Amino acid sequence: MKRTTQAIHTPYMKPDAYGSIAMPVYHTCAYEFPNTTVMADSFCGRSTDPDYSRVTNPTTIHLEDRVKAITGARDVIAVNSGMAAISNALMAVAGAGKTIVTSRHLFGNTFALVDKTLRRFGVDADFIDLTDLKAVECALKKENVACVFLEILTNPQLEVADVPAIAALAHAKNVPVLADTTAVPFTEFDGKSLGIDVEIVSSTKYISGGATSIGGLIIDYGTIPGFQEVMRREVLMNLGAYMTPHAAYMQTLGLENLNARYALQAANTLAVAKKLRELPEIKRVNYVGLEDNPYHDLFVKQFGKTAGAMLTIDLADEQACYDFLNNLKLVKRATNLFDNKTLAIHPASTIFGPFTKEQRAEMDVLDTTVRLSIGLEDVDDIVADIKQALRS
Ligand SMILES: *Cc1c(COP(=O)(O)O)cnc(C)c1O
Repeated sequence: MKRTTQAIHTPYMKPDAYGSIAMPVYHTCAYEFPNTTVMADSFCGRSTDPDYSRVTNPTTIHLEDRVKAITGARDVIAVNSGMAAISNALMAVAGAGKTIVTSRHLFGNTFALVDKTLRRFGVDADFIDLTDLKAVECALKKENVACVFLEILTNPQLEVADVPAIAALAHAKNVPVLADTTAVPFTEFDGKSLGIDVEIVSSTKYISGGATSIGGLIIDYGTIPGFQEVMRREVLMNLGAYMTPHAAYMQTLGLENLNARYALQAANTLAVAKKLRELPEIKRVNYVGLEDNPYHDLFVKQFGKTAGAMLTIDLADEQACYDFLNNLKLVKRATNLFDNKTLAIHPASTIFGPFTKEQRAEMDVLDTTVRLSIGLEDVDDIVADIKQALRS
């Protein structure tokens, strides 16, 4: 089956007693066993029968199985947020005395996780420019590197890493590559062939189907020895971030129409980007889908012809950004990405507001940048709202 079909027709673990077409939601904490043998097999990992919903739940397994079918991964673990996916995966590969090689161009909470929280547990971070392969090579010369952690399209800088090149350098040193691939749905590219060992997705974004629920996915391609065992039998159980059945149900619905939504959102975004370039109030439109964007070719080679629904615009100064945002009528002032509705935010004063001006400068988060996530509305309406907000 093709990916579009798998997103809809991956069979359930067991047939439903009533033949329900939609995935039943198992709102239960625990499961009864017929006898002690079956019970012991479940608890000791000799069977996949669910025992307790902090560890496994049929509805959540169904979401995991669909993502597994689509990506060809060995294992997929669904957790309750993108941050839970990142923190759980990093805690499975890193530990005291180890170093995570990554970039300063990271999602705000991911940066704080690596720079603050994990440091308190003795994990070091080496922040480098991941678009500079010499810097990657140099960082990998050090001992005790736990992993390279990268985002395939950084936000809000919209920088693209050369994943196969980084993976080749890392794998030569037996260092795994963990990639946050939230910015492009996994239906669009083949993470394993790019050299990614573990893909991490905030399924809050494209997958949830219009911002219905928070969620995260750890997509394990089976290339890191022992990762699956540590992840499933240790980290997942001990940190307790497994996805709830309700969220898994919402996200399974979202997955079913992901392809249709993504195609329209990406087409809308390209159309909006082209129209915004004609407006003199906008100093710069940054979108990797534009052919003259410096990362366009590298992006297309890895992730396909569509470049997602996130773009940024730069205005004259900080005040112009605030005025623009306050004047919007249709477009929502909100964080989040890849909702069905178009969203706008000033990253410097919000997501990156808690950082100092110097830290923001190091991360290339500019005061003049507004981030837009383009939705499913008519392009003319989106552009008309942006125009009136720039001019009123
Ligand atoms: C939103 C996001 C996250 C965090 O995901 P949550 O579901 O909000 O915890 C991580 N990485 C990227 C790239 C994101 O966009």
